[in-house]
Amino acid sequence: MKSRTPTENERIDEALELIWLLREEGRAFLSNFKVSSDDEYPEEIIRLLIEDGLVNIKGEEIDFTERGYERARGLIRRYRLAERLFSDVFELREDLIKDDACRVEHILSNELTDSVCTFLGHPPTCPHGKPIPRGECCKKYRVDVEPLITRLSSIEPGTDVKIVFIVPSQKSSVVKLSSMGIIPGVRIRLLQKKPTIILQVEETVIAIDPEIADEILVRKVA
Ligand SMILES: [Zn+2]
Ligand SMILES: [Zn+2]
Repeated sequence: MKSRTPTENERIDEALELIWLLREEGRAFLSNFKVSSDDEYPEEIIRLLIEDGLVNIKGEEIDFTERGYERARGLIRRYRLAERLFSDVFELREDLIKDDACRVEHILSNELTDSVCTFLGHPPTCPHGKPIPRGECCKKYRVDVEPLITRLSSIEPGTDVKIVFIVPSQKSSVVKLSSMGIIPGVRIRLLQKKPTIILQVEETVIAIDPEIADEILVRKVA
C-alpha cells in the first residue's frame, strides 16, 4: 500500500466516516458522496480509497472492503465516544463538542479508546442516539452494566466513593466546595439523600444541595 501524507490520511478518514454515515442511512451511493472541503473532487478521494483497498464500487453503490470497514468502524467509535465524554462528563456545549470530537478521533489509541469506553460505562449510543461500535472492552464487561463513574446524586446512602471530577457551574462554586474538602481524589461517604444530601468528608459531616450532588462525579470504592 502506498504511504499517504498526514493530510491525505485525514481526507481518507473523513471520507470513510461519511461513507459510514451514508451506509447507516442506507444511501451510500456515489451521487450522495460529497466531501466537505470545496477544493477537492469526490472522484479524487474515491480513487484514493480504491487504491488503498478501502472501498469497492458496485455500480452506484459504495461498499467497504474488510479493511475499510474496520478503519471506519474505529473512527466512528472514537468519535462517538468522544462526543459522550464531552457531553456527559465535561458538559460542553453542542457546538464545541463537534470540533473537539473530530480532533480526538485521530489521536486516541485503541487502548485509550477502551479506557474511555470503560470509564463511561460502555455507552451503546452517542448523545444523538447513534450506535457506538463495540470494542473488546465492551465484550469483556458485558455483564457489568454499572458504569464506573456515576453522579453522587445517583448512589445509595451508606456508599463510600471517591470524587473523580467536579463539573464546574455557578451552583457549585469549586472554590466553595474545595473549602469544604470536596475535591477530586478525596474519599467521602454518602450518609443521607433526603431531604438534603449529607456527606461525611473525613471527620466532618456536611450538607449540600441536591443539585450540587448532580455535578460531582464519583467512583465507588470497596
Ligand atoms: Zn453523535
Ligand atoms: Zn467498552
